[in-house]
Amino acid sequence: MIFDLHSHTTLSDGELTPLELVSRAIDNGVDVLSVTDHDTVDAYHELADSYDSIKLVAGVEFSTQWENTGIHVLGLNIELESEAVNTGTRLQSEARLERAKLIGEKLEKKGVEDAFAEARQLSIGGYIGRPHFAQHLVNIGKVPSLQAAFKKYLGAGKVGDVKQHWADLSQIIQWIRDANGIAVLAHPLKYKLTNSKLKRLLDSFIQIGGQGIEVVSGRQLPQQTQYLSQLCEQKNLLASCGSDFHRPSKHWADLGGFPPLPDNVIPVWDRF
Ligand code: AMP
Ligand code: MN
Ligand code: MN
Ligand code: MN
Repeated sequence: MIFDLHSHTTLSDGELTPLELVSRAIDNGVDVLSVTDHDTVDAYHELADSYDSIKLVAGVEFSTQWENTGIHVLGLNIELESEAVNTGTRLQSEARLERAKLIGEKLEKKGVEDAFAEARQLSIGGYIGRPHFAQHLVNIGKVPSLQAAFKKYLGAGKVGDVKQHWADLSQIIQWIRDANGIAVLAHPLKYKLTNSKLKRLLDSFIQIGGQGIEVVSGRQLPQQTQYLSQLCEQKNLLASCGSDFHRPSKHWADLGGFPPLPDNVIPVWDRF
């Protein structure tokens, strides 16, 4: 069985519509899929409750911060109609809008005119994010690529990396748990924390109700999988896996395109 519990659609910064995503997942042999757009569950409004050839698990990827680091927490197997999901996604969308205005102001000071208005034009629904600013910077020729836009303007520590608007980690976890979902720390190695800082993050995460980590996130090295599965075991966490698919490209894993979870961990789906 292939479980892919992390993916994005056009309702956040993915390139495929929800239906295109589901169809590609089926073609790739995925048995269980979670669509986990950034801070929104709007994709599920475009999907049926169930499909013959694939099982859907409702999910979301919340943005938040821990100390000074921007982090992402997946809510898996959440109840879409719950008050908590409703409130959580609404407040996070509002936070996105305020943040985008601030990113716009900061870019303006760097000589990028009308950045907010232009990014807004490029966005749909409740999601407006750094990828839209990146696209605008590419469109006006300030940078040659999205990667370059992040490197120069939007990535960690750069002028457009604004983190302070999000609900805090404990609030995010509370929303997920109130929606009867499982809170999973997404891609733990992407934050570039030292081993000891990552362990400290996991300790706080667990203390405030976090239940799992992504042991496999897209294509990764065997030693990374081994390291994360050991951490998972040591800290008694559940293990999740997913592609974090955004678009068909060499840079992202395809749907279902990642190594299996090792045997020494308890898969998060045991609790679904
Ligand atoms: P935001 O949700 O506004 O914080 O934007 C974060 C999103 O930008 C991530 O989910 C990625 O999809 C994308 N992203 C982050 N870093 C890069 C990068 N270096 N190049 C391209 N896209 C990136
Ligand atoms: Mn993204
Ligand atoms: Mn993420
Ligand atoms: Mn993601």
